[in-house]
Amino acid sequence: MKENAIKKCINPKCGKTFNIISEAYSCSCNSLLDVIYLDKPEKELIEIFYSRRNHGGNIYNESGVWRFRDLINFLGIDTEDLNECAKILVSLDGAEGRLSKPYRMSKVADYVGLKQDCLLLQPEGYNPSGSFKDNGMSTAITHAKATGVHKIICASTGNTSASAAMYAANENMRCEVYIPKGEIAAGKLGQAFQFGAQVIQVNGNFDDALNQSLAKVNLQNGYTVNSVNPFRLEGQKTIVYRILENLDWNPPDWLVYPGGALGNTASCGKCLMELYDWGWIKKVPRLVIVNSTGANTFYELVNGEFEGQKLVWNGGNFNTNLLDRYYDFKDSNAILPKTRATAIQIGKPANIAKALRAIEFTDGIVAQVDDGEMSHGMAVVGLNGFDCEMASGAVPAGIKVLREREVIKNDDIVVGVLTGRQKDPALAVEYHTDPKNIFSRPPIV
Ligand SMILES: [Zn+2]
Repeated sequence: MKENAIKKCINPKCGKTFNIISEAYSCSCNSLLDVIYLDKPEKELIEIFYSRRNHGGNIYNESGVWRFRDLINFLGIDTEDLNECAKILVSLDGAEGRLSKPYRMSKVADYVGLKQDCLLLQPEGYNPSGSFKDNGMSTAITHAKATGVHKIICASTGNTSASAAMYAANENMRCEVYIPKGEIAAGKLGQAFQFGAQVIQVNGNFDDALNQSLAKVNLQNGYTVNSVNPFRLEGQKTIVYRILENLDWNPPDWLVYPGGALGNTASCGKCLMELYDWGWIKKVPRLVIVNSTGANTFYELVNGEFEGQKLVWNGGNFNTNLLDRYYDFKDSNAILPKTRATAIQIGKPANIAKALRAIEFTDGIVAQVDDGEMSHGMAVVGLNGFDCEMASGAVPAGIKVLREREVIKNDDIVVGVLTGRQKDPALAVEYHTDPKNIFSRPPIV
């Protein structure tokens, strides 16, 4: 292994660097850290990524994450040495990201008002634990293992705990998950228990659970696998690589994600900044992040709905006082995030700074949709034969809103990420039992 990357504070006024093999996830100035690669990868790697799809049974080529290992090689391994891969890279037998690629979904395209050839949706729910989290957990647990960690800690609305617990079980690590009591879908909580995690129920919401889990991490030198961990975000970049590979590395006009803790927003933004910097892409797709109206911190701040001032990255000099006043206002008025899309029921998105950077770099947009709109979005994805959770329904719903406003044109190329599935099957049953819903088909009794 050679030194191939460092960790660096994202605050340009600070810019402090850290050795890659350290547990620090934030700087002494409280800013988050980036993984910065020392070398610029050659574009010829595209051919190698493509050839690895004929994996010949090798799990590191079969994996939709590690197939791109040269671009996330923060440990500086010899990426062609499969013995070294086997010793160092953590994989669920090549299954992470393996089934993920963008699909045309004609009924969704009709519903949102796009030409059928113009819309692609990439279901990340077909990952082993049922969500996109496995992309980033592969890299985070790889780093944890290299750091000599035996116990990982996270807070979760469900998907993170399932993924973390699954990886911990495979690597013989202990896993503690902090969950908001009564606010987590039974299917996801069941997974955490099944995989042997120690569940800690917190009286409060996800934001409280994250605070408690990070307090434990800081107190006990523990290792967090929440998306404040920069290695999580490295793995999530492969979601974008798979999209681009399927488009022959021609970027779409728009990339659309649901917005919760904003880890995907941050990861996608960093991914595009790197690809642009390396000269791999000439055009930067515009990001669309879709909040729930019940948990719309990012929407309100970016669009200037609080104190009439827009929160912008501003080269890293963003208005942290405005952010603090916003959170104080919410806390003092006891305004809590509330949506049935529990995966994005988050009031204090931990990656907001990196997400602001992503919005600035991509000339991005933050939209919002309500629970009803997300339910219809989830249902119409189902009619194309794909299963997704309610939070992922925010993607078609958000595209529809922006089409109606003509922000997105009907022949723009739009790619959306469906983040998870099977979080709460009861929601689909409830939707289809109600004849008032657009796509429902109530049971015959
Ligand atoms: Zn710093």
